[in-house]
Amino acid sequence: MIDVHTLYLVGLISQATFALTLMLLAWSDRRTRGTPWLAGACALQFAWTASRATWGSQVSRLSEALSACLLLLLFYSVYVGFRWFAKQRGIESRRELLLAGGAIALVLAASLVNGELAVDIGRCIGLGIGANAVTMLWRCRVKGLKATARACAIVLAMAMLIIVVNMFARLPMEAWLINFPESGFVVVMRAITITLVTLLSFSFVAIFVGETNRRLQEDTRTDSLTKLRNRRAMEEVAIREVWQAVRKQTSLALLMLDLDHFKDLNDTWGHALGDRALRVVGSVLQREMSPRELTARMGGEEFAVLLPGCGLEDAGIVAERLRVSIEKLRLHETENSASMTVSIGVSVLRDGEHSWTEMLCRADDALYRAKRNGRNQVMLCAIGASPISGELVKDKPTWRSRYSVPKQML
Ligand code: GH3
Ligand code: MG
Ligand code: MG
Repeated sequence: MIDVHTLYLVGLISQATFALTLMLLAWSDRRTRGTPWLAGACALQFAWTASRATWGSQVSRLSEALSACLLLLLFYSVYVGFRWFAKQRGIESRRELLLAGGAIALVLAASLVNGELAVDIGRCIGLGIGANAVTMLWRCRVKGLKATARACAIVLAMAMLIIVVNMFARLPMEAWLINFPESGFVVVMRAITITLVTLLSFSFVAIFVGETNRRLQEDTRTDSLTKLRNRRAMEEVAIREVWQAVRKQTSLALLMLDLDHFKDLNDTWGHALGDRALRVVGSVLQREMSPRELTARMGGEEFAVLLPGCGLEDAGIVAERLRVSIEKLRLHETENSASMTVSIGVSVLRDGEHSWTEMLCRADDALYRAKRNGRNQVMLCAIGASPISGELVKDKPTWRSRYSVPKQML
């Protein structure tokens, strides 16, 4: 039969192990700034269990006050730590720090009146902070971290529930170092508490792993210069968009953009300005396109835009708008400022196609026709079978008449 001594020992060993593990993880990866807080929470949990076990029934006002403060700090660390993951940011204002300080002052003041009252106040405020953390984790909007955050919310809610049960059951304060009468109920309650606390510590490690994985996915799919998708990410979303377009029988258009004479821009103004130009073009694409329209840097000075639900003519209008925006860019404040132009090839998904390969080839063909034709222009690819949405490709698209610069198409 397991006794309470053994349970405390197991709990202390597991809390110390998790605290050390999380400290090591926090040290090895400084970018996940919530991890030190969660490591701190494990250390506080260890201190809290050790203090309860050691003081036992020989409680004084001071021990009760310290115990309540430890519990408060523990919940605060859990909240701040999880916040870094769920909201990707830490404490924003001094108000939260002041509130935590105020809560500790309240507990200390209560301990002057009554030790038990201080513990109850500490538990109630701690539970309030914990409830905030549960809501925040449940509502986590960070892509790729939602499931882990929700699992953490459930574990935290269960750990809080057991604190409430302990609070109302008013279990006898058993001391680890002295003998005390053991009842079956006490042993079961302590076993459940220690299991949930271990699970909570495990959830700290789980959210760290989830975040590391999410960032790895993000880093390998983001172009570091422009912060747009890279080619790999674009290929992944293209598979999804083609599948959706085929299933729903809607149109899908692709723009391929290539900056004109970019090598000359680099040679004349230097690579630093070339990089800046690429970043600026990236921000133009981000600004002009809605989140539904998918942009990427395909490599070098080439960009792609995928337009779900967009036919060839509308895609031509979008492309022309982008061309004009890029043409208007000035990279210096001076009069003799560096500027650039772009050539754009446009194509659409056609009946019977189930991948974007052919569409990509056609957009590339149209792009090179635009280059051969003098650059700084949009070229539509209207060859092949009918587009997937069945709309007709007219000889003279309406977008041509809306812009002053005449553009040629094949
Ligand atoms: P075209 O109008 O025919 O496209 O001519 P271009 O000079 O733009 O094309 P080319 O393929 O000859 O040269 C592309 C240049 O893009 C060469 C390379 O130095 C530059 N480039 C590619 N990636 C980067 C980058 O990340 N930063 C900078 N600054 N330049 C880059
Ligand atoms: Mg190129
Ligand atoms: Mg180029």
